[in-house]
Amino acid sequence: MRRYERPVFSLIYRIVRDRALAEDLAQETFIKVLNGIRSYNPQFKFSSWIFKIANNAAIDHLRKKSLDTLSLDGSPSAQTPEQMRATSLQLGDHVVSSFIYMCGECRFCASGRPVLCTEQGKAVTTLPDGSVRTRDAKGNPLNIFSGCGVMAQYATMHVDNLVKIDPKIPFDRAALVGCAVTTGVGAVFNTARVVPGSSVAVFGCGGVGLNVVQGAALAGAGMIVAVDRVAQKLEWARRFGATHAVDARQGDPVAEVRALTGGKGVNYAFEVIGEPAVMRQAYDVLAKRGVCVVLGVTPPTAEVRVPALSLVFEERVLTGSIYGAGAPRVEIPKLIALYRAGKLLLDELLTRRYPFARINEAYAALERGEVARSVVTF
Ligand SMILES: [Zn+2]
Repeated sequence: MRRYERPVFSLIYRIVRDRALAEDLAQETFIKVLNGIRSYNPQFKFSSWIFKIANNAAIDHLRKKSLDTLSLDGSPSAQTPEQMRATSLQLGDHVVSSFIYMCGECRFCASGRPVLCTEQGKAVTTLPDGSVRTRDAKGNPLNIFSGCGVMAQYATMHVDNLVKIDPKIPFDRAALVGCAVTTGVGAVFNTARVVPGSSVAVFGCGGVGLNVVQGAALAGAGMIVAVDRVAQKLEWARRFGATHAVDARQGDPVAEVRALTGGKGVNYAFEVIGEPAVMRQAYDVLAKRGVCVVLGVTPPTAEVRVPALSLVFEERVLTGSIYGAGAPRVEIPKLIALYRAGKLLLDELLTRRYPFARINEAYAALERGEVARSVVTF
């Protein structure tokens, strides 16, 4: 039986207890639990557990302007221990949400690369089984983005979209590992496989780019050149381990990066913006046998051109990396362990915290490039 056809264990996560904020989201499943109803769809065994959650993703709820308000009283009850043993998660576990859909059967899932699952994209706005269990007060289904849809107090999620974490890490720090840190550091470790003493250029030093910088520092790169158009981001990049900073507004960043390497070029270059012209710049700063890794996401029709001869005569590599190119259940706990060991900077990455009521300000600040990472707290 394919995973998405199996009984879905729906988990309800309690993020906060603030009732005023609860009015932003009406959860059909949550209401059912409040009423003591354990099963509402004969096709699915419905279990509800309450977990604390660190969440970082999904903005679809924000687009739903027509939500009627709903007050949620009391606490949903927990399941019996027998039922809880049905999954790898226990009541009270701390988790980070992962937006990776995994069928569990294809060769990529089977080989520990669920980010490349052949069924990826199958459930972009639903749970993995195709159902939508989140509804507004009128009963209209609400999309949940990538199996998470968790920028809300409550989320109904498939257990595959959750990664258990060390409970000692604060939630606002753990939330960062759900995407930006995993993507950036993972691209260095798992895609480029940066080796000690090598040279690295990072084009774009936002939330993900800074994690490429610190990943390269962790990997022991000897030279890490940060390239950005925002002075503040270059300053942050230095704090995360960049040895050099190039302001792309002044002069030609390709010429500057190559000059820093004595004309040889860098061993690894990362594009962390999603801009084909910048991808070309990242490719152009490579040394022979250099590897250019693209993390930036472009519109679907975007293309990038490179000189074909350089692929052959210089053995350059142009590749991409999605979500750290690893398995979330392996990568996320690993990164959290690095933070706990004092080797991964997360406190420094967390520029601001916003209450949910000020979330629009958070997005505006993000667009202005004022923050490395902000966290919406509940
Ligand atoms: Zn798969």
